[in-house]
Order: sequence, then C-alpha cells, then structure tokens
Amino acid sequence: MSPTTELIAVGTELLLGKIVNTNARDLSESLSALGINVYYHTVVGDNPERLRQAVEIARNRADIIITTGGLGPTYDDMTKETLAACFGKQLVCCEDIAAKIRAYFADRLPGVQMPENNMRQAYLPEGCTVLRNDCGTAPGCAFYAEGKYVIMLPGPPRECRAMFRSGAVPYLKALSDAEILSHNIHIFGLGDSAVEEKLRGLMQRLTNPTLAPYAKTGEVMLRLTAKAESGAEAERLMTPVLQEVREVLGDVIYGIDADSLEGTVLRLLLDAKKTIATAESCTAGLLSKRLTDLPGASAVFLGGVAAYANEVKTKMLGVPETLIADHGAVSGPVARSMAEGARTRIGADFGIGITGIAGPDGGTAEKPVGTVYVALATAEATYVRNLRLGTDRTRVRMMAAHHALDMVRRYLTNLPVENI
Ligand code: ATP
Repeated sequence: MSPTTELIAVGTELLLGKIVNTNARDLSESLSALGINVYYHTVVGDNPERLRQAVEIARNRADIIITTGGLGPTYDDMTKETLAACFGKQLVCCEDIAAKIRAYFADRLPGVQMPENNMRQAYLPEGCTVLRNDCGTAPGCAFYAEGKYVIMLPGPPRECRAMFRSGAVPYLKALSDAEILSHNIHIFGLGDSAVEEKLRGLMQRLTNPTLAPYAKTGEVMLRLTAKAESGAEAERLMTPVLQEVREVLGDVIYGIDADSLEGTVLRLLLDAKKTIATAESCTAGLLSKRLTDLPGASAVFLGGVAAYANEVKTKMLGVPETLIADHGAVSGPVARSMAEGARTRIGADFGIGITGIAGPDGGTAEKPVGTVYVALATAEATYVRNLRLGTDRTRVRMMAAHHALDMVRRYLTNLPVENI
C-alpha cells in the first residue's frame, strides 16, 4: 500500500481568496509522480489553534503531513512551533543555519542591522532533517514522530518547489525501497475526453504501471508511472505500455517527457537548421513570445509582425488590399498571404500567418467568434488550417498559437499539416 498524504497550506491570504493555492497543485502533481497518494488538501489561516486542529484531523487520516507556508521570520509564521508542539517536540537553535542567515543578510544588506526576528528561522524541531532553502532564508524540515512523517515547506511557490525537489523528494524516496519512475506523454490535436475514450480499457486494466490523464490548457498529458525494485525494471514495465499508447494515439503525441510544444518545435527547427518568422493578427505576438521565452530561440526565430490592423497587413506583409476586400481579413487566403509575406519579407525558411476572431465581438453567422485561420508557408507550399476554437478570448488566442506550433512540428516530422 502506498503511504497517504495530506497537504496543509497555511495562510490567511489563501482563505481570503487573495492568492490561489498553487503549492497544493504543484505538490500533488509531484507526489503522484512518486506514487504517493494525496487524499486531502486542507487550507488554514495563520492561526495556531486552527492549525493545531487541522493537524489533529490530518494525523488521523494520513501517513504523511506536508505543510506549506508560515516558516518565515514574522510572528504570524507559526507553522514550526505548532507542528512541533502537536508532535511533542522542542524547537532548538540550529547554529549553522543561524550563521547562514547572518551571512545572507551581511551579503545582501551590508551595514544594515539584521532584524533579530530573522533568527526565529534557525529554530527547528529537535532531531529533524533540515531541508535547505536555495531560493530564500527560511529552511524547511522533516521528521518522523508518533507514527507520522511531517514535512514543512515554505509558502513562496518558487521556494516550495525547489525545496520539494532538492529535500523532500530524497527524504520521501528513502522511506521506500521501491523505485518509482514516470513518463509524461504529451498530446496535441485530440481532446481529453477523446484520449480517455480511446485509452479507457488500458487505463482500467493497468495496475503497475498506471496511466492517468492530467489537465493541461489546450493539450492533454498522460502520465505513465511504474514502481519496481530498480529503475531498469520500472522502465521494462513501462516500455510495452508506451508502445501501446503510441499505437492507439499515433501522431497526435508530440513528445514523451517534452517540456512544451514550443520547446519541441524549437528543437526541431534547430535540428533542421531552419528559421521562422511570424505574422500574427488575433494573437498579436503571442506565438513570438512563446517561441522567444525559450533560450536558444535566436538561432531560429528571426522576427514577427503583430499585424492587427488591415493597413499593417498590406503595408508590412504585402497582403493585397483586394484579397482583404474579397475574402475578409479573417479568411484562409489572407492567412496564407500573411504567412507568405512574413516568410519572404523577413527572409525565413518558414512563415506563419494567424488571423481570426478572438471575440467577444466581431463574430458573424458565417464566421462566428473563434473562427481562426492559421497558415504555414514553406519554400514548396503553404498550408492552411480553418479552425473553430470556441468563444473564450484567451483560449482562442492560445489555441491559435498551439495550432501554428503543431503545424510546424508536423511539417518537420513529415506528417500531414492541414486540418487534422
Ligand atoms: P516568507 O519567508 O516569505 O514569509 P513563509 O514560508 O512564511 O515564507 P508565507 O508567509 O505563508 O510563507 O507565504 C509567503 C507568500 O508565499 C505568500 O504571500 C504567497 O504569495 C505565497 N504563498 C504562500 N502559500 C502559498 C500557496 N499555498 N500557494 C501559492 N502561493 C503561496
């Protein structure tokens, strides 16, 4: 049986709706990849008595309690004190952490007297494993007491994620001799319900490895997780299932353990030594941003035009005015001409053209909100997708950029490019 976990997020801001509990989402995802079941998420304010009550409930229904937040230096940061008291532990000063906190302040604020309350961070439950904080000053900690494992992580998501990876994962892995490995299967071009329908039988049949879908905006991700005595054995268990998933889903799988669709496209462009330029109307730079968010983009991305107005489409990209008059700015011929204009005027191997109605206004019976045309121009041919992407403005724009990336991916891997 896998150990069960309860996550307790501490912070009044969470209860007031001022921030979203992204730590719970991130940790749950990572814990499930480790084969550890998360059965409960609890949120409690910065109140020691209510936190104590939450811990009392959690210890009766979980093997592992993981808290986030409330480790900082201020007096409303009460997590360590409360958890230590719940499990009958004293807080003791950890000298090397105290020295690190002093050094941290001397380095960042030379000559400024460090507020003494920062030293509260050096007090940790006796006998605990200290979890280093590489992104801030508050250390975390882990201990075993009264039949339960307790792990305390900081609130700021960056610190929480980094400490989970560097400290909590090794701690949790050491609790079991089993090796747990996962592969993420990334899919674009098939909705989550369609993916589930195709794979339902397989998902239900599997026990080790397991196959589970994860929600991702605009795409689908499946996680395959195996537990075995060794990493090699876990891989051996996963290989035939991976093969079966590939056979069922085919070329909508854009990567295994890929970072993102744009990352996959960037690598394909780098490998093929090809360059790309964009002409974006309804996405107005979103695709360029996604490509240039990635290090190494300068080797493949030459530039782009946010061609929102018709005048920009004609003057900057050479889209004929008559084409716009005859077909409308949102049309296949205009997307095609934008892509070709971006390619030839900017001098890239590939040009992308995106034009559409993101909404909420501007739709017609013939071209409702969500109508988008995406074109990919290459030296040999220009390909166009005619899409209906729903009525949510943000989603329409994001999906348009997804489709443009998918067209490049499919072209570079010799797959059909147009409407899939
Ligand atoms: P600090 O040293 O920054 O005080 P801390 O461990 O005491 O760290 P908190 O004071 O509880 O953490 O939270 C610091 C900030 O981290 C919050 O203002 C919030 O922006 C973010 N944060 C806290 N908990 C969460 C959470 N569960 N999900 C997302 N963000 C969070």
